[in-house]
Amino acid sequence: MKVLVAVKRVIDYNVKVRVKPDNSGVDLTNIKMAMNPFCEIAVEEAVRLKEKGVASEIIVVSIGPKVAQEQIRTALALGADRGILIETDEEVQSLQAAKLFKAVVDKEQPQLVILGKQAIDSDNNQTGQMLAALAGMGQGTFASEVVVEGDKVNVTREVDGGLMTVALNLPAVVTTDLRLNEPRYASLPNIMKAKKKPLEMTTPADLGVDVAASLKIVKVEEPATRSAGIKVADVAELVEKLKNEAKVI
Ligand code: AMP
Repeated sequence: MKVLVAVKRVIDYNVKVRVKPDNSGVDLTNIKMAMNPFCEIAVEEAVRLKEKGVASEIIVVSIGPKVAQEQIRTALALGADRGILIETDEEVQSLQAAKLFKAVVDKEQPQLVILGKQAIDSDNNQTGQMLAALAGMGQGTFASEVVVEGDKVNVTREVDGGLMTVALNLPAVVTTDLRLNEPRYASLPNIMKAKKKPLEMTTPADLGVDVAASLKIVKVEEPATRSAGIKVADVAELVEKLKNEAKVI
């Protein structure tokens, strides 16, 4: 079966994010970019399905500028078979991303679509759900286990207070949570081999999707800085401070 995986290029999770002085967004100048960690988990899951003989082909798709080819190449080095870059310099929001993926789904007809549960740049946690709705597919979000059985997939979901397992008819959409798997590293020979794997370039216009934003970002601000803590001598002093300074008891 064909598996489609969405991989997003985002700021590397180790980088301390800087907000632009005019508060219009995040400053991306000279910033290290990488594959969104939840997308790495999505690629790993697809590769494991291929190793088990369940998946026959893995297609990775990214939406972004030309340099997002780097993240597609990384996924190809990890075991994906071919890539599609939907090239745009616009900032594509979740609904428009979902419409683009829907267009690719219509064309490629995958049995399983795996996305990250969220992209760590905007933390939206929307694209997979929106894609499932647009494509009329079942969705298994926040997956910590994915088991394909015939024409069904059982997805164990991380929900508040425990785990919930849902059985979905294929084709279906799955979004990955942190405990689904531990992604592998790409070996040097595989990085070299990945350079020869097919990478198709397309655009939102080719796919007939308007990527104009449906939400306007009003303001982006850094989190408030926390003031330093203090040590108290004993419980009596703690209670006195909670009562008279913090006024919380
Ligand atoms: P979000 O809903 O923005 O938090 O993103 C959830 C998931 O959707 C990500 O982990 C990706 O798998 C996928 N996704 C969203 N935007 C893009 C994009 N521009 N390119 C590739 N994948 C994306």
